Amino acid sequence: MKATKCVKVPHNEADKVACVFAGYRQMFNEGIRLGAESNITSKRRLYKSIYGKLEQDIHSHYKASCIFHAASTLKAWKTNLKKGHCNRPYLKKQVAKITNQGYVINGNILRIPIRPKEYVYVTLNEHHLSKLAGRKTGEITITPEFIIIPYSKDKEITKPAKWAGIDVNYDNITVAYDDGTVKKFDTSPIRQARQIMVGTVSNFKRRDHRVLKKIASRAGKKYRNRQNAVLHKASKEITSTGHGIICEDLKGIRKKGRRGNGRSKKARRNLNTWPFYILFSMIGYKALWNCLPVIAIDPHGTSSKCSVCGKKLAEEGRMVRCMCGLYVDRDVNASRNILAKGAMFAPARHAGEAMVGCAVTPSRCVSVPNIR
Ligand SMILES: [Zn+2]
Repeated sequence: MKATKCVKVPHNEADKVACVFAGYRQMFNEGIRLGAESNITSKRRLYKSIYGKLEQDIHSHYKASCIFHAASTLKAWKTNLKKGHCNRPYLKKQVAKITNQGYVINGNILRIPIRPKEYVYVTLNEHHLSKLAGRKTGEITITPEFIIIPYSKDKEITKPAKWAGIDVNYDNITVAYDDGTVKKFDTSPIRQARQIMVGTVSNFKRRDHRVLKKIASRAGKKYRNRQNAVLHKASKEITSTGHGIICEDLKGIRKKGRRGNGRSKKARRNLNTWPFYILFSMIGYKALWNCLPVIAIDPHGTSSKCSVCGKKLAEEGRMVRCMCGLYVDRDVNASRNILAKGAMFAPARHAGEAMVGCAVTPSRCVSVPNIR
């Protein structure tokens, strides 16, 4: 299986690359129009039918990437159309993609074409070179500030000796390990950063939408940086200990946060702004990079039942109490239940092995990866 990671290289060539963005955007939007009119979503068919029709004043290496980019956008649009009405997509951002045949990395210099025989040179530092050394690089993405270079390696998911169960809450991520230890990652800075962003935008009272737009984008960028820093740190620590990962399948979580589902406005806001998808995608690619499997289980009953005897729990604030004498933090109890539930499905587990807290009956396992 191919595992992919990226390096972000900053550059100061925004003026020179600006013409590429303009040409790429026109080609992309034209490609979307032609693809939508002839109802094509396959990459190869779109490439064949529109390659000759797209003409722009940029290097021809951008054309293939642009058509593939447009084809995948068309496919996503078609899927969304089935769910309901949505407008035809168009590219507004300043972005361009180019395949690995278009650019050259020579020593510590990255050479990107703009027009035929016209190039931009970007210097890579030691960190970038150490990441890319001996690895296969893929299609790069160019933005006004960064160049994103993906690099990949073939990885095979192996049998882990140990497993960890992850419970995600509003203010923390709780991880329970096989040996009974528990680790908590504080994610409250994400919510604080969001409150700051919302406050900054709502405190702006002047009737000036251009300034407001600038302020909002700057505040949003700060919030995203904070959020990604917290999530990257947690996901890196979770995936670097060599434990196979068992997490909740949170499909449909946004449905629970809709109006009229018995939740307060504040609870709905907390639920709907939590970056679940970003966290789990980070855990997914980092686990694959470290050859670890990720199993998603149905979270039903994991927070309301005792992790020792399986009986219904009484809640006392953040703590839970059971008839059998258990008195623990509710998140710790939930993460142990998730670990126990997932461990029943884990193919690497031996029958009859003792387990910390194994009282919940398994209902459904969402995905078990092929492990060799
Ligand atoms: Zn109990």
